[in-house]
Amino acid sequence: MEKNPTEYEVVQFVLDIKKSEPELGIAKLHARIKSEEPTWVLSINRLKAILRSHSLKHTSSTATSNDDDATIAEEFRDRLYVSQTVSSPIADLSLPPAIEVFNSQSRGKGLQVSSKLPKTESIPEGTVLWTEPALVLIPPISLVGLIPTGKACSYCSRPLVSMSSLIASCSTCSGRWCSSRCRKMDKLHKHIRHGKYTSEWSAIEQFAVENEWSAFYQYAYTLAAATFDDQDEDPSSKHTIREGVDGLAKIRQDIRQKADPQYEKDLFLGEQLEILWQEGYKVLCKFFSHLSTPSYEEYLSGIGMVNINNLDGSIYLLQSHLNHSCEPSVDVKIVGRTAGVKITAKRQLRADEELTTTYVDLKKDVTFRRQKLLEGWGFWCTCPRCMREQHGKLYASPTEPSSKDNVCTKPTADADGSKKKKKAKGKSKKKISESVRVRKKSVTFDDNVVQIEI
Ligand SMILES: [Zn+2]
Ligand SMILES: [Zn+2]
Ligand SMILES: [Zn+2]
Repeated sequence: MEKNPTEYEVVQFVLDIKKSEPELGIAKLHARIKSEEPTWVLSINRLKAILRSHSLKHTSSTATSNDDDATIAEEFRDRLYVSQTVSSPIADLSLPPAIEVFNSQSRGKGLQVSSKLPKTESIPEGTVLWTEPALVLIPPISLVGLIPTGKACSYCSRPLVSMSSLIASCSTCSGRWCSSRCRKMDKLHKHIRHGKYTSEWSAIEQFAVENEWSAFYQYAYTLAAATFDDQDEDPSSKHTIREGVDGLAKIRQDIRQKADPQYEKDLFLGEQLEILWQEGYKVLCKFFSHLSTPSYEEYLSGIGMVNINNLDGSIYLLQSHLNHSCEPSVDVKIVGRTAGVKITAKRQLRADEELTTTYVDLKKDVTFRRQKLLEGWGFWCTCPRCMREQHGKLYASPTEPSSKDNVCTKPTADADGSKKKKKAKGKSKKKISESVRVRKKSVTFDDNVVQIEI
């Protein structure tokens, strides 16, 4: 059966060949592809265009750094979805000194060093710009099962093995907290572990765990936290969760999913995902039916929202305002589950300079980084580093160890591969396990989105 290879597949193939035969000319390269991938429909002109756009030719490139658009192949262009991401301003966002929010056509919402900072002053490298706890502290789905029985802290999910006197127990259920502070902070416990709708909440947890779908759980948890925060009559409650959630960047998961290269290859993936999303929606609505139920559109946007904003499973309000650069200006470190994140200046920063972080592994090369950013966030990175590496540095500089060694390794595919092997061990129910595998793929895609190095 003939097949139209994706640009990504062609690049992978060429990079593999070039490792052993870097000098192969275009005609020979084309012939080689024809013989090794006889089902591919790939004209020599398309191959040339792909090589050009990835600087894989050895002839000197005439491209200049101004031709960003020209480097985005049509196929990639179809997958860009960043322009469909919606992000509204947050009215009372509290900001650290000398930092301000900007909104621009090209970069969207972001953070920068205040324009009011005198030109003669700067923020020195290593300055801690701010620390912040998670907007909502969400248990990882791997620990969710331990919480109702008191084997993990109901708030911070720390596993509880001992009967230490520091541990606080719930008088109504078997839940426990690792400290009285966690008990005090845990506003959600009584709503999801007690009362009329406990079994509906358990169904949400069970569904998330069975499908290994972290994004679904993170969304449900965040929505519950925002909803009950709205209703909280405690005078100390600041009612800020809803406002924070509303201000986070949102993108519908179904739009986002189309950037996954797997989506094009697997005809059934779209259908499988739709079934998964709808099942999840039903489970979610049962719990929220007595509160306010999100529409299906809001739900898909919510799933997309947690996928693009979460850092290691939690959402940090101010940190989520940071845009990406492959040469980031700040460092983001997770200090602890309850302590949250610490943001530090990675270099000296001056007035108007944008604060940027990285969304991907910076040790990977330009092709890999761009692919990941396209899949995860829907944009084509044209940061200075990507532009430099795109125009010939990929093979040119022996001082850059990242290039050849890490060319297009695919952690997503590897992770999925190991899951597939595990699945293959199951003896019966082949059909079911296959459909689960497809679902897992989608879930893998979600779960791998955050690749920030910490
Ligand atoms: Zn705790
Ligand atoms: Zn309880
Ligand atoms: Zn870049």
